[in-house]
Amino acid sequence: MKDRYGRELEDLRITLTHVCNFSCFFCHMEGEGDLYVNGLTPDEIELVAEVSKEYGIKYVKLTGGEPTLRRDLTEIIYRLRNLGLEVSMTTNGYMLSKIASKLKEAGLNRVNISLHTLDKEKFKKITGVDGMDRVIEGIKEAINVGLKPVKLNFVATKMNINEAFNVIDFAEKIGVNELHLIELHPVGMGKIAFSYHEKLNNLENVLKEKALREGTRNKHYRPRFYLPSGLVVEIVKPYANPIFCSGCNRIRLTVDGKLKTCLYRDDNSIEILNILRSNLDKYHKMQLLKEAFDVAIAIREPNFKYII
Ligand code: SAM
Repeated sequence: MKDRYGRELEDLRITLTHVCNFSCFFCHMEGEGDLYVNGLTPDEIELVAEVSKEYGIKYVKLTGGEPTLRRDLTEIIYRLRNLGLEVSMTTNGYMLSKIASKLKEAGLNRVNISLHTLDKEKFKKITGVDGMDRVIEGIKEAINVGLKPVKLNFVATKMNINEAFNVIDFAEKIGVNELHLIELHPVGMGKIAFSYHEKLNNLENVLKEKALREGTRNKHYRPRFYLPSGLVVEIVKPYANPIFCSGCNRIRLTVDGKLKTCLYRDDNSIEILNILRSNLDKYHKMQLLKEAFDVAIAIREPNFKYII
């Protein structure tokens, strides 16, 4: 089903928790603010995902906070896969060396692992944790167990932009499939950290030179560069970018039970926790959830758009 701007939904991004074992200085907290509430239960998540399929959702992305801190993560993955959805997760990678094989067994298809530097001291400055070696072990284990494609997320700031090509080299050497170069968003702590913002234009120009070919992903019309090594580098530049918004096919399920229609907007969400926690039976809950999806699609709009 398309929204008023002709955009189909495909992708449901679910915040499982806001608890995190890292404290990245720029964290956008998925645009949800500092919410330390218990996340939705596996039953509740499954029900929303089941309804979302009727609205075109094919892919689910699990995020946080740190999703690997949820004890019931394998159960959630298993249930989502059982619905026929493709399931991926964004993680800081700290727990992966221990749990990647369990996640793969539960049905996790692929993974994005955040790695913003290869300098241990800088890693500690960015994340608040002396954990770079352990994250690198996690990345290797994700590759080892076949969570394919393994993607790295590199958020570029003044602190680390000079390292982008080191991280690209590293990704190529260890067999990572994709790397996302992400521009800092002024959302959550990213508003305070925005003085560290750096444009990606220069990096993009170098990538143009190095790439065998360029492409565009359907999602957000993100530019993609295919390097001779086989690594794909994708550019993620949402801020003040109407092209990005015009290709947005995502809806979010927040940790406190809302359908959130845009990372940047607090005023375009639909409360569904009251439906999920009501005494109604499954059929009637699903009917109300469908109404909530109808409204969410009706109010969904690009945050950045061309004004003619
Ligand atoms: N804890 C997990 C992690 O670190 O990957 C998942 C949650 S994190 C909020 C999801 C992704 O958003 C990570 O790749 C993170 O680096 C990225 N991110 C966080 N804050 C950001 C910001 N202000 N601008 C751009 N990306 C950001």
